[in-house]
Amino acid sequence: MALDASVQQLRNFVLDHPRLMVMTGAGISQKSGIPTYRDGAGTWTSSQPIQHREFMHDATVRKRYWARSYKGWPNVASARPNLAHFALRHLEELEYVQFLVTQNIDRLHQKAGQQEVIDLHGRLDQVVCMDCGEIGSREDVQKWLEAHNSYLDNLRVTQRPDGDAEIEGAALKEMRLPSCTYCSGLIKPNVVFYGGLVEKKIISRVFDQLSKCDALLVVGSSLMVYSSYRYCKFAHDHAMPILCVNEGITRADELFSLKVKADCAVTLEQLADSLPSRR
Ligand SMILES: [Zn+2]
Repeated sequence: MALDASVQQLRNFVLDHPRLMVMTGAGISQKSGIPTYRDGAGTWTSSQPIQHREFMHDATVRKRYWARSYKGWPNVASARPNLAHFALRHLEELEYVQFLVTQNIDRLHQKAGQQEVIDLHGRLDQVVCMDCGEIGSREDVQKWLEAHNSYLDNLRVTQRPDGDAEIEGAALKEMRLPSCTYCSGLIKPNVVFYGGLVEKKIISRVFDQLSKCDALLVVGSSLMVYSSYRYCKFAHDHAMPILCVNEGITRADELFSLKVKADCAVTLEQLADSLPSRR
């Protein structure tokens, strides 16, 4: 079967630059039932995300978060990788993908078997104590919430990408907050909320990996947050080509050497199937 012209272009590019760093965003998890925050035009489609400062300083914000998260978490926990995740895993097996950085917190790349992954914005299947640093299991928090806040089961919700959900008419006064099992301190999902900081060692590890690659491939991200945009800027400043597969506009459109506006699952699958193994 003849390849689409855009896939052919991507293929030629990858053959010329066979050591890729891949950066993925919410667009890749959409078909796994995890909705994106931004539509194709890059604007918010739901209410504003949780702010780090508010979560840390306001118990009401934490109650609202955990009530919504209680409803949203099962959807994330049971989500399965889709064809786009498997196509990237295939590209890694063929030895074109050296390294993958994701803005997603759903662990779907790891579930697809991807070996070299950095979770830039953390992982939703863990909680972290902000007082003692202990890492705990999000699933254990779910059980605790279920045991101590049974009325949560009757709340109506709609899903959001961070495992959060919109709560309608919730009376949150009664809500009991989970805490650290070691020190009773304040726990937070082990993710970077809006306005929170990505750990310095993670930022430099990604720069380090990127500098060893031939090209950067952006998939399913609008790159609106600086934590991901900075790597495009770095690649561009170092004359490293940037490829993008994304249906909507992105903040870095003018920095790309090649952009394919198409479904990322279909495009990546065709690309992986068309490439010879480098092993
Ligand atoms: Zn603690």
